[in-house]
Amino acid sequence: MHDPSQLLQFPGRIGLGTWKMGASRAERAHEIAAVSHALAAGYRLIDTAELYGDGGAERIIGSALRGFRAARRAELFIVSKVLPSNASRRGTIRACEDSIARMGCDYLDLYLLHWRGSHAFRETLQAFQDLHQRGLIRHFGVSNLDVADLEEWVEAERQLGAGEGLRCNQLYYSLETRGIEYSLLPWQRARGISTMAYSPLGQGSLASHRELARLGRERGVSAAQIALAWTIRTPDVVAIPKSVQPRRIDENLAAAQITLSAGELAQLDQLFPAPRSKRPLATT
Ligand code: NDP
Repeated sequence: MHDPSQLLQFPGRIGLGTWKMGASRAERAHEIAAVSHALAAGYRLIDTAELYGDGGAERIIGSALRGFRAARRAELFIVSKVLPSNASRRGTIRACEDSIARMGCDYLDLYLLHWRGSHAFRETLQAFQDLHQRGLIRHFGVSNLDVADLEEWVEAERQLGAGEGLRCNQLYYSLETRGIEYSLLPWQRARGISTMAYSPLGQGSLASHRELARLGRERGVSAAQIALAWTIRTPDVVAIPKSVQPRRIDENLAAAQITLSAGELAQLDQLFPAPRSKRPLATT
């Protein structure tokens, strides 16, 4: 079920995050315009969750998608997540149907368990398999799971048998949060499970980091672009920075074209050392 040579194919290495969108009526038009701008600029990977704005972020995406021709749905890769409190077999199915209805997108390309809750993995997994059979999700995965959780998840997959296994774990990963490099990334890499890096700009803090800005100036790019190029430096990691500002949306997408040199990577390792011991995963 987990073939290391079969990494999930994303349409691009940078996607658009949507956390904090859809929470305020006053920002609605501005946020719809931002997502529409991202689509026009070439973003094809969009990350959201039923949690964000209590469905509001999915409604923002739905409004932006109405301007995007239905015939082009296949170009997009839409990711959403079920809340752990909804992740029973029936609850997951209902949550997925509601997410699809809010976005009017017919199906999800990837559906994730947002973090581990009290429902047994087996329940969520059965729902994912049902949804997959009905064509409502193309792939499924998890978020914020560590190696011990993943081993349990994979065991639940083995017991249920048949069907594809999880394809992606969405994790907090940035220059200043490298904890997953210790054991989680290698574990996933060995099994062909993709990593989707959330908060790759450190929720904005890395975009104003003095040393990153200096490194960026040397090659005519921004601190944010250095941070993003670093996050996606290996083929099994994609990143989903969030912005509602058109200039930043363009800037972040362009980071996918940057390949950092060995010298630059060494400087970044000095500034933000790789982990030497296992750290617990932060869950947001
Ligand atoms: P990011 O690291 O993407 O940072 C977003 C912040 O940085 C915003 O304040 C944004 O402001 C600002 N920003 C974006 N681009 C630039 C730029 N080029 N220059 C300067 N500032 C910039 O943080 P997020 O926490 O939003 O993570 C990204 C996405 O990951 C989320 O939106 C969500 O989709 C997902 N996520 C998933 C989690 C999970 O548990 N699975 C947890 C957290 C996030 P502005 O909008 O004003 O540009």
